[in-house]
Amino acid sequence: MAEAPRSLLFVICGPSGVGKTTLLRELFARDPRLRFSVSMTTRTPRPGEVEGEDYHFVDEAAFDRAVAAGELLEHAVYNNHRYGTPRSEVERARRLGRDCVLEIDVQGAKQVRAAGVAACFIFIAPPDPAVLAERLRQRATETRQDFESRLATAQREMLERPWFEHCVVNDQLELAVHALQQIVRDERRGAK
Ligand code: ADP
Ligand code: 5GP
Repeated sequence: MAEAPRSLLFVICGPSGVGKTTLLRELFARDPRLRFSVSMTTRTPRPGEVEGEDYHFVDEAAFDRAVAAGELLEHAVYNNHRYGTPRSEVERARRLGRDCVLEIDVQGAKQVRAAGVAACFIFIAPPDPAVLAERLRQRATETRQDFESRLATAQREMLERPWFEHCVVNDQLELAVHALQQIVRDERRGAK
């Protein structure tokens, strides 16, 4: 009997507002073998966000318990809120024979790398900083203070781009989705 293909792990990073969620929505619509890892967070849901689909929204105590129990593969504080990847998400993808996608911040990606977990690290970059600020402004989901702090974090995150295996510039959405699809295809070919 042929051996089941091994489940791959893709780690997607990039500054807030660059278009990660938008890109991934497209990617998942086109590739049913990919599975999104639903993170745990202490931030409040944005309008339209669904518990268990976009995030597992929890309070500080529940997050603390998950950390203490060793349930998180990585976790970090971003903009005063905590975010983490439940190990169960990655394990579930593996059991289902699907490739798992983490959409996490750079601190989390560094932890995954330091843990020696085999993964493909992809950075999503904006065509230029002004476009990033405009996208974040147009999304209109942040308070003025959060907006400023996300842009400041974005500047720091952009400095991390060189260590990522791949960088996709999200200028035209369709081209960026194609670039991501190509990376996924190449990784699968390499994993055979
Ligand atoms: P992130 O998940 O990285 O924070 P989002 O996916 O929420 O970013 O995108 C931020 C905003 O930018 C959204 O309003 C989205 O519609 C818009 N956007 C994303 N990609 C593009 C693109 N290629 N061109 C123009 N606008 C985009
Ligand atoms: P947002 O509040 O815009 O949904 O996410 C803020 C930042 O947290 C983004 O950079 C996003 O990628 C990151 N993030 C989401 N989930 C996780 C996670 O599980 N772990 C880490 N480290 N960062 C995450």
